[in-house]
Amino acid sequence: MCPITEGDSYKKKHRRCFYIQNQGNKGDQKEAQRGRDSRLIYNMAEVEMGEVTEEHYMAAMLLSAAGDALGYKNSSWEFCVDGVKIHDELKTLGGLNSLCLEQTSWPVSDDTVMHLATGEAMVDVGQIEDFDELEKKLYPKIADYYKKCMGDMFGRAPGMTSVNWIPKLQPNISGGLFIPFNPKGGGCGAAMRAMAIGLRFPVPQKLEWLIAVAVESGRMSHHHPTGYLGAVAAAFFTSLAVQRVPPRSWGAALLGEALPAARRYVQQAGRYVQQNLDSWPYFETKWRDYLELRGISDGCSEPIFPVDEARPSARDAFYASLSFSGWGGSSGHDIGLIAYDAILAAGPSWKELCLRAALHGGDSDSTGSLAGCLWGAMYGLKSIPQNHYSSLEYRSRLENVGRGLFAVARKDRYK
Ligand SMILES: [Mg+2]
Repeated sequence: MCPITEGDSYKKKHRRCFYIQNQGNKGDQKEAQRGRDSRLIYNMAEVEMGEVTEEHYMAAMLLSAAGDALGYKNSSWEFCVDGVKIHDELKTLGGLNSLCLEQTSWPVSDDTVMHLATGEAMVDVGQIEDFDELEKKLYPKIADYYKKCMGDMFGRAPGMTSVNWIPKLQPNISGGLFIPFNPKGGGCGAAMRAMAIGLRFPVPQKLEWLIAVAVESGRMSHHHPTGYLGAVAAAFFTSLAVQRVPPRSWGAALLGEALPAARRYVQQAGRYVQQNLDSWPYFETKWRDYLELRGISDGCSEPIFPVDEARPSARDAFYASLSFSGWGGSSGHDIGLIAYDAILAAGPSWKELCLRAALHGGDSDSTGSLAGCLWGAMYGLKSIPQNHYSSLEYRSRLENVGRGLFAVARKDRYK
């Protein structure tokens, strides 16, 4: 056991180790072979995840959009509730590697449009000298970008919570960014656009800043803990990916460090505190149950994956079991659970990540966006088929945000 305590360095505490244990039907030779292959792949991860470069930042933005475009498939796959059908259709299209993700057939959805808004706002603001400047400079800029990006939602299936609340923000008025607590604000719309916050604040010293920005940008539309804690998880995991913390530790770190920090922040911020605290336990409980199920509550054990979940139908059932109302990935808690599960299971295999995170019967574009960003921050573009990113819609904007966030974050690091 190696419990995570506040302020400790994960890198020092945990061996860098990425093995998966397969359990279940020991007689299934094919799956047993799959298990052995997984172990070989995971050994390679030690070599492939090098020091973070500008290319990793660009990959994080690009592959987030690739995961979104794949999971969306011009709205037909996002709203298909049968993962088996999606996988069958993928075969008829020639398989994953043959797909050319370009604007006409594979446009990006609301996830990427809003993620770009978050990233571009932070690049636009640049360096921030102290915590007070977050509220004075950064939040109004983020709100401004969110409002503008709502004009680019035609054909992109935006979530109704964002559609309803973002236009009400008033960036130029004191208090104009604060919306009321919303008992129905637990959707994944805050989380799907928050990864860039982790790219912006990738050092442990800036954890409080990361938390504040994730909470406040999240509750510009999703003022419910299940919604904005999804943003905290997405930003925090991206930051840990940049810090090269082993993924098996992320979940325990979320519960041990990020969520307590978020709770302190919400209490100190003083807006709708009681309503927030009353609705707080759901997110935390779902994450605690998941970590226990995978055997990684301690942050250092090897995750356990039942062999059965190699099948798309079994994964659909598992994802639905994590969800609030049966549509896996559509809430603030399970977008992170599904993306994280795919990261743990796929290791450095981009193909396996896509199959698990972006091609299933749930809210597949949002889980694909988050997982793609995390994967890109860790492994870069080297092993990715060029046709998955070279013709992506908004490619140059995505690359510019990656470059811009790398530059701003690097200045923080060397201050
Ligand atoms: Mg979408």
